[in-house]
Parts: sequence; structure tokens; C-alpha cells
Amino acid sequence: MRILILSDIHSNLEALEACLAAAPAHDMVANLGDVVGYGASPNEVIKSVQGLGEFFVRGNHDKAVCGITDLKDFNPVAGIAALWTREHLPPENLEWLRALPSGPAQIEGLEEVQFVHGSPMDEDEYLVTLHDAIEPLMVSSSNLTFFGHTHLQGSFSVTPENKGDLSYPEYQTVGQVETSEFPLKDGVRYLINPGSVGQPRDGNWRAAFALYDTDSRVVTFCRTPYNLKSAQERIMAANLPMRLATRLAAGR
Ligand code: ZN
Repeated sequence: MRILILSDIHSNLEALEACLAAAPAHDMVANLGDVVGYGASPNEVIKSVQGLGEFFVRGNHDKAVCGITDLKDFNPVAGIAALWTREHLPPENLEWLRALPSGPAQIEGLEEVQFVHGSPMDEDEYLVTLHDAIEPLMVSSSNLTFFGHTHLQGSFSVTPENKGDLSYPEYQTVGQVETSEFPLKDGVRYLINPGSVGQPRDGNWRAAFALYDTDSRVVTFCRTPYNLKSAQERIMAANLPMRLATRLAAGR
């Protein structure tokens, strides 16, 4: 089975459409949350992802927008965007966000893999450094966990000899569709982040996603350019904070 893994779309319709156009053939989509927040196309993005399947875990922005959590842990810009999103969603979309499940989630018949937003131990935890990742890697019930939340595409791993490693895919260009293959090794435990579709923060402006082939055990990291100008113009037209538009160009 080939699983398309999308995370942190953040209401960026242009980036989502580019990812779907660039995505290799797949059998299902796993969505790791933060469907909304930051960008200016929340309803269009919700409609699009609803058409991609039913496998979701919720993100912290999804929870804040629909009122499951309050905004006290959000920085001011994120808080403004969450409130703007809440005001622009019809009741059925707020209800849909409220019903998204917390992770870890698993696919029936594929119990060796799990999907979370932040960490297998806490859906809101950020796994940025190898130090952050070691305990979740060791205690996780699955050898392979896909996670999002940090908007940083890459992999943490630990070998049976307890050697930890952090790796990022390498790309050759700044403006083309590119892929980077990452074959998984037997016995190694992995935490893998497909990157953020709608607001990358690894210094690469292109929309990020990944594909996992369960037969070959290869993760393919992907980046694709998208209509950045259009996404930025929508943010400005919506009177959302300017920083949300400018950061997209920097990938920060
Ligand atoms: Zn996010």
C-alpha cells in the first residue's frame, strides 16, 4: 500500500493543490492535522481534504479554532488567525473540526505504523531536536511513527544499539518539484515528519509532503512549488497579519 501523508496544511489552498498535483499514485491519504489556521482559505481546504478520505488526526490549531482549547498558548499572530478562522467557518465545518480524533491513530491491518500530530506521548508536544525525540522513539509502541507540528521535514531514528540519528532530505533546486527517497532499515525505530504543506519552516518555501510505500518500506519526501503570490494575496485581502504572508516566501 502507498500512503500519501499530508500535515500542517494551514488553510493554504494553493499549496495543497500543488501537492495533490505533484503526488505520486497512492492508495490512501493520512492527514496529520492543522488543516486550518494561519492561511486564508480554511473552507476551501476543509472541503478538499474531506474529499481525500477519512484518515485524520487533529492538530493544535484545529482544536483552538473550534474551541476545544483556548488561545492562551498561542502567540498573538497565531491567535488572531485562529479567531479569524473561527469567524469564517460555517457551523458544519466547526463541528467537523471538533470531531477530528486525537492521535495516535492507526490504519487497520497496518499496526506497525502510527500517526500523530505532535508526539506519540502528547499530541501538542514539539519534537524539534534529537534530544526531544529520543524518549518518544524508545517508548513508542510502533517502530514507525509519522508526525507533524514542527513544520520541519525529516527523520529521527534510533538503532537497536541505541544510536540516535537526525536526517533531513537534500534537494538540488529551489523552485522545482523534487523527491528524496529514504529507505527504512529493519530493526530501526523511526519518527518521520512529512513537512508542512502550507507553511514550511525549514528555510525551503516549497510545499512539503511524503509518501510511504508499505511494501518496499521506502519513504519518499517531496517538495513542490506552488502559487505563492496567490496565497499571499488572499492573506492580505483577508486582513490577516502581514507576517503570515511574508513568512511563506522565506519558508520560516
Ligand atoms: Zn502546524
